[in-house]
Amino acid sequence: MIMSKALFLEPHYGDIAWSCSGLVAQNRQDSIIVSIFPPKRKHYRIQFKGIKYRRKKREEIKFSNLLSVEIIYLKYKSAFLRGRNLEDLFDKILNPAEEEQVLQLREYLSDLIRKRDVSEVYCPMAQRNQIDHLIVKKAVAGLKQIDFDIYYYEDFPNFLPVSRKLQVSTGLKAIKVDISEVIEEKIQGILQYESLVEPYFKSKEILVVLIRKTPFETFWKEDI
Ligand SMILES: [Zn+2]
Repeated sequence: MIMSKALFLEPHYGDIAWSCSGLVAQNRQDSIIVSIFPPKRKHYRIQFKGIKYRRKKREEIKFSNLLSVEIIYLKYKSAFLRGRNLEDLFDKILNPAEEEQVLQLREYLSDLIRKRDVSEVYCPMAQRNQIDHLIVKKAVAGLKQIDFDIYYYEDFPNFLPVSRKLQVSTGLKAIKVDISEVIEEKIQGILQYESLVEPYFKSKEILVVLIRKTPFETFWKEDI
């Protein structure tokens, strides 16, 4: 892929690191990450399907320092702050406050894309309909696409076995990027998120083996 500026949109801390850090590492000078929904301290510990995890800003900062990549932190109210609870965290229907967030975010992104001369936007696919991910996807879907391309990244890290991921919708074509040259940096980048490593993987070693076995990242583009 040829890049001028690439904009990576992450609903939550770690989303880009875990799904796209190889591509980011290869293009660090030209990558901008926008982090959209910061967690509130009291909502740090959430439990989903028996997995307890928390996402921390200091891990996000360690990641951005390690890769020397710019991260813009926005302060949109995340799902819990909008009154959602665990049961309706995965939903296809936006409430009025969320519809408003879509419009605001779209306006912000439209401006940023123009000002920073962005040619590629990396957007979550929102496969699970995690509501924050869906808001970002809807904001992007309504952008006037003039001089930039949209790529979707899966809401699951590329290195997970297929059995632990969800299917990708048809109508998208896969673009596979070789990231073997930056695989060690990708590993180090992901290992900064200690709070996610332990809940999702039995050990660091297991995770590292998985990443090493997958020296590529797949992005998805509308097949037109
Ligand atoms: Zn997320």
